Amino acid sequence: MADMKTDLVVIGGGIMGLWAALHAARAGVKVVLAERAAIGAGASGGLLGALMPHTPDRWNDKKQFQFDALVSLEGEIRGMEAATGLYAGYRRTGRLIPLAKPHLREIALRQVADAAVNWRSGAGGFAWRVLDAAPEGLFSPDVVAHGAVSDQLAARVSPRGLLHLLRSTLEGMPGVTILEGCAVRTIDPRQGRVVLADGISVEAGHVVLAAGVDSFPMIDGLAALAGAAARPPSGASVKGQAARLAVDLDPALPILYSDGVYVIAHDAGGVAIGSTSEVDYADPFSTDRRLDDLLAKAETLVPSLAGAPVLERWAGLRPRAIGRDPMAGPHPDYPRLHLLTGGFKISFGIAHRLAQAVVEGIFEHTLDGVQAIVLPPSFRTESHLAL
Ligand SMILES: Cc1cc2nc3c(=O)[nH]c(=O)nc-3n(C[C@H](O)[C@H](O)[C@H](O)COP(=O)(O)OP(=O)(O)OC[C@H]3O[C@@H](n4cnc5c(N)ncnc54)[C@H](O)[C@@H]3O)c2cc1C
Repeated sequence: MADMKTDLVVIGGGIMGLWAALHAARAGVKVVLAERAAIGAGASGGLLGALMPHTPDRWNDKKQFQFDALVSLEGEIRGMEAATGLYAGYRRTGRLIPLAKPHLREIALRQVADAAVNWRSGAGGFAWRVLDAAPEGLFSPDVVAHGAVSDQLAARVSPRGLLHLLRSTLEGMPGVTILEGCAVRTIDPRQGRVVLADGISVEAGHVVLAAGVDSFPMIDGLAALAGAAARPPSGASVKGQAARLAVDLDPALPILYSDGVYVIAHDAGGVAIGSTSEVDYADPFSTDRRLDDLLAKAETLVPSLAGAPVLERWAGLRPRAIGRDPMAGPHPDYPRLHLLTGGFKISFGIAHRLAQAVVEGIFEHTLDGVQAIVLPPSFRTESHLAL
């Protein structure tokens, strides 16, 4: 006998799990979201919030999926803000990418035409311009020796602000239960049942596994249950460190991006600097010299950051699925178990669309049962788990 009954259990209260719960609630089904610690305890509780498009050249279905997601996110956020009175710190700031070398300028110039074709939306679109000179005094002169790209599609959001907005929205919807401090200990993927750490069992028609990096060992453990031959690990974690500085930059400033370094002015004050990318690390959640090196690199790029007090240092683990793309959809061996992880470095811009595809696939709640959101084949679970 189950202690609780619901239509859907979502495991994990990060950006993926919250969007999944929201789409389920919109479809009118009962949903329990079980989070081991607290909402935002994982990678989603960070401080960077870049919503960065792929480059507009070499277009493919993955780039189109991300583009559609980035374009639609603002409407999603504004709708929830209007309903709750909260603010998620979203702004389509665009992005400036310095061009230090002539060949980079050549490449960027070719991409202008690609953006005109591929970054169209409705009657308009988003430009990818090549500037002869970056705004005065922003970058070190040598990094903008050949101008800068100005991309008008990129945006930023406060990660914690968006989590808070999603949570508040969910709390106002019928049929939603959020359980914090409730780790899922076991999943029975055949029955769609989970058992929580305190022994309470929750019976549901379906389970969405959105536990970030912790999803992978759970997925790997289930392969044995299905009698499947041993597979390689379904994913890995990549550590990232970031910081927030007290420095007076205009919050309307574009994201400044060069060679893996992001400088993002946020509305709530403070400038976020990200991020390291570490496959080998001793402690997932501590910050160290690699963050100091990143901050030094950021100062070289943007001299006005020099000497700014550090408000916060933060580290987390990004989920990277084996196929490197996001992993979403029903598990090939267990149709009641749905995977929603592997967003790696771009989760915040696409989670709403990934989660919508997963929930639509479960409940077929769209008109005529036709899915509005179709996942690129390489995102689907079977393409990852076949590797
Ligand atoms: C330094 C850094 C900078 C980043 N910058 C950006 C950026 O600018 N833009 C961007 O889009 N992305 C960025 N990312 C990546 C992004 O943060 C992640 O891809 C995203 O947060 C992953 O979300 P998630 O919901 O899949 O996982 P998580 O946020 O990790 O959520 C998983 C949740 O599941 C819970 N959980 C785990 N096991 C269980 C269990 N057994 N039972 C119940 N709950 C469980 C965890 O406590 C956690 O809260 C960055 C990441 C890092 C580390």
